[in-house]
Amino acid sequence: MTSPVWHPFTQHGLNEPIPHVVRAQGALLHLADGGTLIDAISSWWVTTHGHCHPRIAAAIAAQAGQLDQLIFAGYTHDPAETVARGLIDLAPRAEGQPALAHIFYSDSGSTAVEVALKMALGYWHNLALDGLATEESGGPRSCILVLEHSYHGDTIGAMSIGERGVYNAAWQPLLFDVGTIPFPAPGRERACLEALDDACADKPAAFIVEPLILGAGGMLIYPAAVLREMAAICRRHGVLFIADEVMTGWGRTGTLFACEQAGVVPDIMAVAKGITGGAIPLAATLATAPIFDAHRSTDRARLFYHSSSYTANAIACAAAVANLAIWREEDVLGRIAALAQGIAKRLERLARHPAFANPRQLGAIAAIDLIAADAGYLSDLAPRLRAFFLERGLLLRPLGNTIYLMPPYCLDEDQLDRLFLALAAAGDHFG
Ligand code: PLP
Repeated sequence: MTSPVWHPFTQHGLNEPIPHVVRAQGALLHLADGGTLIDAISSWWVTTHGHCHPRIAAAIAAQAGQLDQLIFAGYTHDPAETVARGLIDLAPRAEGQPALAHIFYSDSGSTAVEVALKMALGYWHNLALDGLATEESGGPRSCILVLEHSYHGDTIGAMSIGERGVYNAAWQPLLFDVGTIPFPAPGRERACLEALDDACADKPAAFIVEPLILGAGGMLIYPAAVLREMAAICRRHGVLFIADEVMTGWGRTGTLFACEQAGVVPDIMAVAKGITGGAIPLAATLATAPIFDAHRSTDRARLFYHSSSYTANAIACAAAVANLAIWREEDVLGRIAALAQGIAKRLERLARHPAFANPRQLGAIAAIDLIAADAGYLSDLAPRLRAFFLERGLLLRPLGNTIYLMPPYCLDEDQLDRLFLALAAAGDHFG
């Protein structure tokens, strides 16, 4: 019987196999046919500690029997309060920069970004209502600056600020007035920073950036010094600086948040994915006091008009409380460092294979490009690679010719060996 399910980012016309997973533990997925797969991309970069972590599973079960869901407009509950305080404690901070002090909950990376954009535009709108954003200071602002090759999600607002191309071609024209800043590729850092400086002079509302590494755009890494300079340029011009830590957060780049490596505190920061250890959807958008205060008043016209039914779902927040406890009580960064080391030595060997180029790594993210003639997003290389890895017991989803790893931090040495053997075999086969 054919399934009625319509899958995301899946071309059903290709009739690719759709593995049926019945159970998961750690880095392993157990299939209905009795087979197993190593989940080498943490099920879309979310299951940071591995699947079905016992502490997170227990927290979810306990919360489900106590308080499941509560309207969050004007009501609150312990798990949401605990996560908010915990996140504020752990958020990037630096001397002389306003701290991230307020948290708005949502349920996915895309909605965390939507909220960030709405906060930024709302900030300028409300300053204009107050008469504080004059023509001189820019008036109400609408333009959002973005980095070339960026990906921020698939809801209309988040998609509007992503790289224009195959991901969003069907929905042009999109929403935002967007200015694109060139990616700081090696040797192009200065050009990027100068373009940002010029664009900021035109008084955009905000600059949004994936800190240190662009994910879906191809796992493109750039230096912390560039991120630091980007934030400084925004600050100098009074342009809001938004960090999209949806992929980079929760240790992925080797520190809890990537911004830490540049000593940067954004005005607004979006987090999701690993906030619950990947067990259940939750996201948060953190903001500094000036952003919150611009919306705080006795005037109902200024309140932040955003909500969804499940905002701060209590079960999801309980999972996040457990995740925060794991971060506080266990040496997660040590685990990530050991995994990163294991990846680095194998990646170095793989890079000698003539079929590969551009090995790169940041923390527990590694990527390498397969030198192939049919490398574009629309070529059939990625589906063929997916099938090749599936046959070898691996869940991998290359981006065009870029094969990347984003494994759970519990991946062991044997699993790493199996992964890299399969990557070398892909080089032999497709190179
Ligand atoms: N922002 C970044 C940097 C992402 O990598 C992603 C997803 O991969 C998103 C936003 C969207 O997150 P979600 O898929 O949870 O909506």
